[in-house]
Amino acid sequence: MIEIDGSTGEGGGQVLRTSLALSLCTGQAVRFQNIRARRPKPGLMRQHLACVQAAAAVSHGARVEGAELGSQTLVFEPGEVRAGEHHFHIGSAGSCTLVLQTVLPALMTAVGESQLTLSGGTHNPMAPPFHFLERSFAPLLQKLGVGLELKLMRHGFYPAGGGRFTARIAPTAHLTPVDVLSRGERVDAFAECLSPGIPGRVAWAELSLLGERMNWPRDKLLQGTARQDEGPGNALMATLAYTELTELFTSFGEKGRPAEQVALEAVRAVQDYLRSDGALGEHLTDQWMLPLALAVHATGRPAAFSCTMLSLHARTQIETITVFLPVRFSTERIGNSWRVGVSMAE
Ligand code: AMP
Repeated sequence: MIEIDGSTGEGGGQVLRTSLALSLCTGQAVRFQNIRARRPKPGLMRQHLACVQAAAAVSHGARVEGAELGSQTLVFEPGEVRAGEHHFHIGSAGSCTLVLQTVLPALMTAVGESQLTLSGGTHNPMAPPFHFLERSFAPLLQKLGVGLELKLMRHGFYPAGGGRFTARIAPTAHLTPVDVLSRGERVDAFAECLSPGIPGRVAWAELSLLGERMNWPRDKLLQGTARQDEGPGNALMATLAYTELTELFTSFGEKGRPAEQVALEAVRAVQDYLRSDGALGEHLTDQWMLPLALAVHATGRPAAFSCTMLSLHARTQIETITVFLPVRFSTERIGNSWRVGVSMAE
């Protein structure tokens, strides 16, 4: 049984999700202690319970102990991974995308396609927004040979939630490691503001400030297409599309937060990315490590990528992944970026 201390490194939900994902992929049972010990409300919140339940649902005969609200310990013994149709309803506005992140690694190498329907939050602070998965993450996964087709049916913002999307996963028996060392040529840059249920002038204030600071023309500043009854919610998204990958940066509005702050947070994220030559941005980096490590492990072939920074989330990912898989990560600072290599451990 693998022992995981949830207070390791970043000490949040990611340690739990990555461990559940790798338990499913490798068939190794796992015992957790100190789950989310570094968060203000430690233990399993509804959102994390949803991840545990989803992991059990895709694993025939899984045994779970301690799956209760507030629990800081958990035992998960996986069964056989079961592709197919699954519905995951995450009560409240808990993030659907983080539930997908938990089960995707196992389903992308399972036998047979999966069709998932997820409901809850689709655009939550501290989680990948739906559009990030669709534009940034899914195309990278395709490079490994995995099909991930996402369809947004309804936006769901914190705190009301109520969003829904589907994910069709076309797995591969031959994960292929790839290097992603450069962005390639820039082909587009635009911003969109989703702001259902709040005055239109807020969206325009955010977009115009971002446009002015980035020097982006007006036709690259778009009011998003959320329906009014999907609100209230506010997400300002900036997309940078390159020939090798697409990055997406999101800043969330909330009651009492001035539009100016929302815009400047997005501007800062885009400028930080543009100051570096690294291919992957902060969030894509920690999310790319797991699928890439699985591909390296499946083939024994090394791979590498470049990124703008190595966050505590990314460093914690490395620690967690290497507990489950016999792979090794190397990290090297090169000028204004990092090079991360993944190879089999000796
Ligand atoms: P945790 O804080 O441990 O629950 O993990 C949060 C996860 O959400 C990490 O994989 C982050 O990279 C990801 N994440 C947080 N904010 C964003 C964002 N704005 N865009 C994309 N991914 C995000």
